[in-house]
Order: sequence, then structure tokens, then C-alpha cells
Amino acid sequence: MDMPLRIIAETIDRLELISARTQMVALLTNLFKQTPPEIIDKVVYLIQGVLWPDWKGMPEIGVGEKMLIKAISIACTIPERDVEKTVKEVGDLGRAVEKLKQIAGSKQAGVTLFAFTQQQVALTVVNTYNTLVKIAMTQGEGSKDLKIRLLSGLLKEASAKEAKFIVRFVEGKQRVGIGDATIMDALAATYGGGVTARPIIERAYNLRSDLGEVARILALKGLEELKRVKPEVGVPIRPMLAERLSDPREILAKTGGDAFVEFKYDGERAQIHKKGDKVWIYSRRLENITRQYPDVEEMAATHIKAGEAIVEGEIVAYDPETGELKPFQELMHRKRKHDIHLAIKEYPVRVFLFDLLYLDGEDYTVKPLPQRREALEKIIDKTEDFTIAEYIKTSTPEDLEKFFLEAISEGAEGVMVKALHKDAIYQAGVRGWLWIKYKRDYKSEMADTVDLVVVGAFHGKGRRGGKYGALLMAAYNPDKDVFETVCKVGSGFKDEDLDKLPDMLKPYVRDRKHPRVLAEMEPDVWIEPVFVAEIIGAELTLSPIHTCAKGLLKPDAGISIRFPRFIRWRPDKRPEDATTSQELVEMYNRQLKKITVEQAPEAP
Ligand code: ATP
Repeated sequence: MDMPLRIIAETIDRLELISARTQMVALLTNLFKQTPPEIIDKVVYLIQGVLWPDWKGMPEIGVGEKMLIKAISIACTIPERDVEKTVKEVGDLGRAVEKLKQIAGSKQAGVTLFAFTQQQVALTVVNTYNTLVKIAMTQGEGSKDLKIRLLSGLLKEASAKEAKFIVRFVEGKQRVGIGDATIMDALAATYGGGVTARPIIERAYNLRSDLGEVARILALKGLEELKRVKPEVGVPIRPMLAERLSDPREILAKTGGDAFVEFKYDGERAQIHKKGDKVWIYSRRLENITRQYPDVEEMAATHIKAGEAIVEGEIVAYDPETGELKPFQELMHRKRKHDIHLAIKEYPVRVFLFDLLYLDGEDYTVKPLPQRREALEKIIDKTEDFTIAEYIKTSTPEDLEKFFLEAISEGAEGVMVKALHKDAIYQAGVRGWLWIKYKRDYKSEMADTVDLVVVGAFHGKGRRGGKYGALLMAAYNPDKDVFETVCKVGSGFKDEDLDKLPDMLKPYVRDRKHPRVLAEMEPDVWIEPVFVAEIIGAELTLSPIHTCAKGLLKPDAGISIRFPRFIRWRPDKRPEDATTSQELVEMYNRQLKKITVEQAPEAP
């Protein structure tokens, strides 16, 4: 079962020109309808711009710009400098290869019938995918030449549009083009009767983190089978996320009275999977981080008393002399590639567990929190370094506030308040009101920091001449699957941050606005939505030049941040994990309420 690559390449080509979500879904649905069910997983991966889900930890394609230019030059039988010249003319490698193939094609059409038929070895999805896999798997000595040979072979047989698709895929430019949400809409429309199927597909994706596999189950076995998908040890589950509030009374009203109030530790979230002696640790963004925490791996193997389990917790650095918890930044030392055994000693960690998602064949994500916690308590053989998060059960704002202050004095960031009622299940991949974070006020500025995505950059002036001086930042709008601008940020950067920016942003610079970015302000260069930064400011305001939640609070105005300041990069967040436009609307409304209350005259 196979199909011509041409069908995908043409779809992607047309997708580039549109930005309306409904049109994108229609085009993808049309593509999926032509796809044999057996190969739907490959088609989904190719559209996502990956060969497999990142968490599998498989090799990347490993072909840089120079190698691509070489492969194109071989495939089009022209010198490399001509390829480079074309890139300069048309702006990027994808368009360059398209143009070069068009020129080669028109020359060939005029030659002999023999030459023409020679060109027609049609590429298919399966043979292209398999060759791309081979390129990725080619490692070690001499791999560079072999990779170039395989790639040039592929490009030689490709049409102009196919070549553009392949080059963009290899460059990794395909990756941010079409959001998972849009792909899921199209899968629902193709296989599962639309609206009713959509949440089932999303749930399965949240539990399996592999859209190709979810599509395959749906296409081959149907929606009923997809409903039966359970967590699987070794396969990361997309984490449940919390909403935020800063008034204990309001928080308890949301959770419906009783709640667990837990320390909110300032560390790295860890989803720990255990099967027999084998342990996997996944990060918040589903990367396999087991290698960074051999100590946690060992603790989990010894202290989780179950054959198979998936638990969740926070890994926190601490000072072995005083026992004090240390901030998240300390864990950066665990990111080093070498001498991890030294880092374990220098930067020891503790694990505070807070949830159980799966236990010996049973899906715990569907059970209410008290049941999950009870089972968690039973399987953890607690030690000082591998234990359960500090918590209380309460229904009064006074106790909540007291515990919050205690948490802060112990080095936590605040508390997590969690609903206990019978519907308080583990909502994988969902940010909802079952969990509410209540954090320390960062001075008396905005109630909380926000995480925004870089979508553009401005050239610097004066001391910053020759570098970038400011960035255009955006929030994520999950309903429309777009990034909406919030502010231009130029302060808070250290000199070394600014020095690193040009190199860091270079691979993602675009001459046109990315189709998933909604902006009215024009930066000097557009940047693909890849990098997430934590930002704070004096307050949220309304602005006519920003597109975040535009028109929602006031006609013709969006939400913006007054005096925004860069705090740090958030490499652990994907662009889709950024603060959402809806969250900013809620923060704005709460800020208004606070101001009105503070300014209200006292009752006589
Ligand atoms: P989010 O994960 O909500 O997008 P974020 O990464 O910016 O936000 P925070 O807003 O600080 O982080 O809060 C959520 C994070 O807090 C969780 O992802 C988890 O890593 C951490 N955390 C610490 N303690 C707990 C706890 N007891 N329960 C749940 N999460 C906790």
C-alpha cells in the first residue's frame, strides 16, 4: 500500500498560501481521504515534519545547510556556488531547489523522449519515508557522504514541488508549519464523523504522545478501538496542567470546597515509568531525561513497589548540608553530556511525587485524585530523597493561606491546589481548573510571569548595533492554533544573551510572516515560532497594535504588557506550551478587579 509523494507535496504547497484554519483542515482531510490506511502514520509524521515522535530518542536527520547544498548540486548537476546564488535570489533552500528543478525540467522536456521517460521514477510516500529514515540512521564515520548520496538520489527523482517538500523537511522547517490541533481536526473529519470523534482522538494522543500511531489505530481499527487506548509503560503521557489564581477564596470556590493543597516545588517535572527493573524518566515536554538523573532512576527502581507503574513528581535540587531546597536553575548542571556521575554528587536532587497515572495494567488517569493518591502512598517506599509532596487537605481559605506561606518559607514557589471530587480525573494534556497554581507574587508587579514565543526581531541601535535589540513576543491561541503578539521586549537581557541571539535565531529567520503568526506590528525580521521566554512587566494593558485576544475586551484592541522585561529562556517549553491568549484575558480581568477593589472607597 502506497501513494505518490506528489499528493503530500502539493497539499503542503497549497497549505503555505492559506492561513484560515477551516481551509487547512479541508485540504488535510482531502489528503487523508486519498491515503491508504496502512500508511496514514507515515503521512502524519511527514506533515508534522518528523520521522517519529521526539520522545523515542531516535536519531535526527543530521543534514545541515552545507550538506543540503551539496546534495542539491549533485541532484541538479550544477556547481554548489550556483545553488548558493539561487538561495540568495529566492530567499531559502526550499524555494531554490524548486526553481532549479523547474529549470532542469523544462530543459529536459525539450530533449528526447528517452530522457523524459528516464525522469519519471515516481517517488512514493513509503520509499521517500524509508530513505529519510536511512539518512537519519546513517551514523559514524563516512556517514556524511552516504547521507548526501541518499539525499541527492531522492532529490534527483523528485519533481520541483517534491524537492521543495523534501528540503524543507530535512531542514526541519516543516516542523512548525501545521499544528497538531489542525491535523487532529482533519483526522476526525476523515475517519470519525467529525465533532464527536475529536475529543476521543485528542485523549488518545494525550495518552500516547504519538499522532502517527493514533491515526493508524483510528484508520485501521476505528473509533471504538481508539476509545480503549490506555497508558503504556515507556510511552510518555502529556502532562496535566494547572490554571492560576491568586485569591484563596476564589481558588476553593473553583475546586468545589475540599481540596488537596500541595507544595509547588521549583524543580523539573518528571514522569517516571517503571517496568520490572527498567526505568524511564520523561520531562514536561516529553523528552527522555533518564540519562540526566541516574540517581532518580535508581531510587525509582528500588522504591516503587510495583511491577509496572507510571508516577509523576518534581525533581528538586537541594543543599545536602542544610537540606534546603534550591531553585530550578541548579538543575541546569544536570544537562551536561559528560561526567554525570560527578554532577550527581555536586548537585544532588530529591524527588517529590504527586500523582499516579498507571499501575499494573490499570489506567489510573480515569480515577479521581483521592484514589490515585491513596494508591501512590501504597506503592512508594518513602525515603528522605524519594518521597511524596507535602500537602494538607482543607476547605478553608485561612488554612490554604497559612500553608502557602509555609510552602514559600520552605523554598517552594507557592502551592498547587487540587480538586478532590469524583470527576477530578487526571486530564492528560489539558490545562483546567482541577489544578490551580497559587504562586508567590514576584514583587508587586504583574501577578505572575508569562511565557511568550518569539515571532520576530528588531535590529539593535547604538551599543546594540549589528545585533538584535528587541524581540516581538506572542501568546498561543489554541482555538485558532495561532500565535498572537503581546509585546516588543528589549529590556532584561544581559549582554551575553544579546550576543548569542543572532546565532540562535539565524536558522529560524524568515522573510515573511509565519502562517501561524497573527501580527500587525512589523518586525525587521520574522522568526519561526520556536523559542519560549519568560517575561514579566509592570501590568497588562490594552493596545491597538497587538493581536492577543484582539476585540475580546475592547473593539480594536488586544492585550499587551507595559514595560516588559526578559527573565530567562524556557527551553523546556514548546511554543504551544506558552501562556495562552485566554489566560492573559483572565489575568487582565483579575488585575482590573484587584485595582477596583484597592481603589474602592471604604464603607462608611
Ligand atoms: P505549566 O506547567 O502550568 O505550563 P510552568 O511550567 O510555567 O507552567 P508553573 O506555572 O510554575 O510552571 O507550574 C506548573 C509546574 O509546577 C508543573 O508543571 C510542575 O512541574 C510543577 N509542580 C511543582 N509541584 C507540583 C505539584 N505538587 N503538583 C503539580 N505540579 C507541581
